[in-house]
Amino acid sequence: FKARWWALNKVKTVCGYCGTGCQLTLGVKDNKVLTTVYDENQGFHNGQLCTRGRWGYQFVNSEKRLTTPLVKKNGALQPASWDEALAVVSSRLKEAKSSPDTLAALVTPRLTNEELLAFRKLFKDQLGCDNIDHSAGYAHSALTAGAKESLGYPSSPSVVADIQKTNLLLVIKTDAYDTHPVVGFEINLAVKRQGVDLRIISDKKGKLSRLPDATTYVHKPGTELALVNAIAKVIIDENLQDAAAVELINGFAAWKASLESVAIDQVAAQCGLQAEEIKSLATDYAKAEKSLILLPTGLGYPGHGKELAQALINLALLTGKVGKEGCGALILGEKNNSQGAADLSIHPTSGGKGAQAIIAGCAAGSVKTLFIAGENPVVSYPNRKQVEDALGKLEFLVVQDLFLTETAAKADVVLPVCSFAEKDGSYTSALGAVQRLNRAIPAVGSSRSDFQVLNDLYAALAGTPAFSDVNSAFQEIVATVPGYAGLSLDGLGDNGIVRPVSGKSSFVTVASTVPAAEPGKLALVTGSALNHSGTLSVYGEGPMLVCPEAFLELNREDAKALTVKDGEEVLVKSATGELRLKAKVGSRLPQGVVFAPYHFANASINTVTTGSAVTWVTVGK
Ligand code: SF4
Repeated sequence: FKARWWALNKVKTVCGYCGTGCQLTLGVKDNKVLTTVYDENQGFHNGQLCTRGRWGYQFVNSEKRLTTPLVKKNGALQPASWDEALAVVSSRLKEAKSSPDTLAALVTPRLTNEELLAFRKLFKDQLGCDNIDHSAGYAHSALTAGAKESLGYPSSPSVVADIQKTNLLLVIKTDAYDTHPVVGFEINLAVKRQGVDLRIISDKKGKLSRLPDATTYVHKPGTELALVNAIAKVIIDENLQDAAAVELINGFAAWKASLESVAIDQVAAQCGLQAEEIKSLATDYAKAEKSLILLPTGLGYPGHGKELAQALINLALLTGKVGKEGCGALILGEKNNSQGAADLSIHPTSGGKGAQAIIAGCAAGSVKTLFIAGENPVVSYPNRKQVEDALGKLEFLVVQDLFLTETAAKADVVLPVCSFAEKDGSYTSALGAVQRLNRAIPAVGSSRSDFQVLNDLYAALAGTPAFSDVNSAFQEIVATVPGYAGLSLDGLGDNGIVRPVSGKSSFVTVASTVPAAEPGKLALVTGSALNHSGTLSVYGEGPMLVCPEAFLELNREDAKALTVKDGEEVLVKSATGELRLKAKVGSRLPQGVVFAPYHFANASINTVTTGSAVTWVTVGK
């Protein structure tokens, strides 16, 4: 970068990519973020950052940033003033107020807590709209909804420090290094320095599988629930449960009865594992003095997220491993403020539509007006054609974003908003830390913070704004959101504060679903590529250097049978669409399984996904 060290203005803030919530120091000159500064005294991670945090900030000053509002005129988006754009949007929202069922709103959990509250105030309180959701309802919001039913709060019962204090770490999926790299570093340290016994349940091997003595149980895609329920069944059959803990928890008898028909040999065959592997994993998990479950997730995992979280929490409750040091479960949301969105209840209340139902409602014509803050469903939601067709049926679409995304290009009004480097406020990490975000540069172009836009729209409808400033929004959070009492923005300091959680635990019965295989087809699983995050990281130089394009990963044997060579272009086809991708041949995947990352708009794997836990595809040339 073109600046002397001493000439940089250094601003401490929080990384805007993933739920790990690493603190970082931005190096700023001439109103541009030029670098991130290493500070070994910063954060639980001692200043360590992954490629995204260290080299992914360039999207802040990207040439592609939107700098002025756009309003559709004569079929094309044209530059407009903020007054004009907000007048068009507020007049449409006023009309929708009389029939709030026809209105829906989606928001990215990359927004600050205060912005998420402003979003909820506008749509729920002012417009009476229950059709709101975040993160597609597919990933972290499903997991935290599961946690809420099981634990009484929508959050992890454990903290990051538990990784170093546990004896046995059970990780679900191998992607922690891809989705939450600094958590991956923590696992690395725990295994190498503390001798933690690392077990991994996953449909593919990953970087974590290469750690010393790690055991990876590679199961058939979509069979996780059956596997976790079978582990519980072994623990009960072997009488390894913590009887005293179980007695205090609701729902044990019904849940135990639901497991009676589980036959370990049969589940092992369904999962592609040996019965002995399931038995020894169950025994070791239950007998370890301290066991911790880690569930890092990305938007690329559709299907049974809620049930998976519940099945895993059942295991922790059964063995009395919730609420103890080095024990419990860590649920890691993909986006930087996924946990804040869960804490602030940014999801539909009963009767409202979640993200999947909102898209279906657009297609059916029952949702006529859709407001999207920062999400890019055309690329990140399953079944791209269905999403595009659904959005095409809307009467009015508003998108506020940093970029003219594939979704924004379809909007009637586009509102340019600020990046994390241009905003004040707070994020809540997946590890439960409420952390202070500090503005490092002024707004790029005429972009405005999501907070200002949502607050201005509220004022246009209500006559007065919802909040006088970001601080007053935080004070409302403190007064209304469990665990935030007593906090203040200034009081968060440089290190943030881990907010407490409490609730009443219950065993939740979860059905052991196993997807039916389609003969002659390959099981497609999607997820995160190394150093990417959502659809934002494609604007960062570091992530694009590490992984510049989409690919389809195949097992060597499958590639041989299909006569496909590494680097060759292949045609992937499913019931919903087809796509050409470059083949990546390796040994990470079991036979019969293919993998693709979902971040890339120009070769979006969601063109072929169906929204189920497994999409069955054919691969040809
Ligand atoms: Fe940022 Fe997540 Fe990387 Fe930490 S692990 S630097 S929060 S992207």
